[in-house]
Amino acid sequence: MPEGDAALRAAIRLDEALAGERLTKAEIRVPRFATVQLAGAVVLETRTVGKHLLTRLVRDDRRLTVHSHMRMDGRWIVGKADQRPCAGPGFQIRIWLMSARSQAVGLRMAEVKVVKTSDEHRLIGFLGPDVLSPSFSIEDAEQRVVSVGDSELVAVLLNQRVVCGLGTMWAAELAHHIGVNPYAPAATVRNVARGLDYVRSEMMAAITAGPAQSRSRLLVFERNRQPCRTCGTGIRRGRIGTEPYQRVTYWCPSCQPSS
Ligand SMILES: [Zn+2]
Repeated sequence: MPEGDAALRAAIRLDEALAGERLTKAEIRVPRFATVQLAGAVVLETRTVGKHLLTRLVRDDRRLTVHSHMRMDGRWIVGKADQRPCAGPGFQIRIWLMSARSQAVGLRMAEVKVVKTSDEHRLIGFLGPDVLSPSFSIEDAEQRVVSVGDSELVAVLLNQRVVCGLGTMWAAELAHHIGVNPYAPAATVRNVARGLDYVRSEMMAAITAGPAQSRSRLLVFERNRQPCRTCGTGIRRGRIGTEPYQRVTYWCPSCQPSS
């Protein structure tokens, strides 16, 4: 599942392909926005807030933002301009943007919306501080996490209103790094800041190294029953959070004992 670092990587690729380019084609295959005319618009940039992508454009002095969210398995794929989309199959395409030089296809996007740029806050205003933002304050974020109280640590880390950008992978890795059981009440955890600092630098590294290399460094995520890299105990997998927001997490029962 794409997390904040994957969203930022997608934004960098979108900027390389389309920033500064005038769109010759723009198809939004989402009923509500299918009639929005973006051809002729110039792409300014794509920014991220957590796992949300904001592609900003200007057309006839109007500033618009295409908001996309990859959720479980969405992807942005870029390529050279062509008559045909650079990715498919066609029924999975939610948005297709093209300039004279490049194109970008958004596959399986959970959300695609077009709003006035001045209305972006309506889409992202509820989010907590972005782990990957240059202005991210670890101390502030730690305070937000522990102040949630009795909720389980990993469930709190996954709540995008508390901090945004972490998904199941980095939340599990954070808890392991600080030796805390994922089900521990957030208010009792003393070293959230150290964990945030760790995953933030791992996410930054993943942006340049790419997903394959960063996955090879994972300590618990998707390593069910494999030996812990620290102590050799079998990694466990379990559900966390409450329905309908239940997610999967991983931990080492020796390094991260439940109290
Ligand atoms: Zn262990």
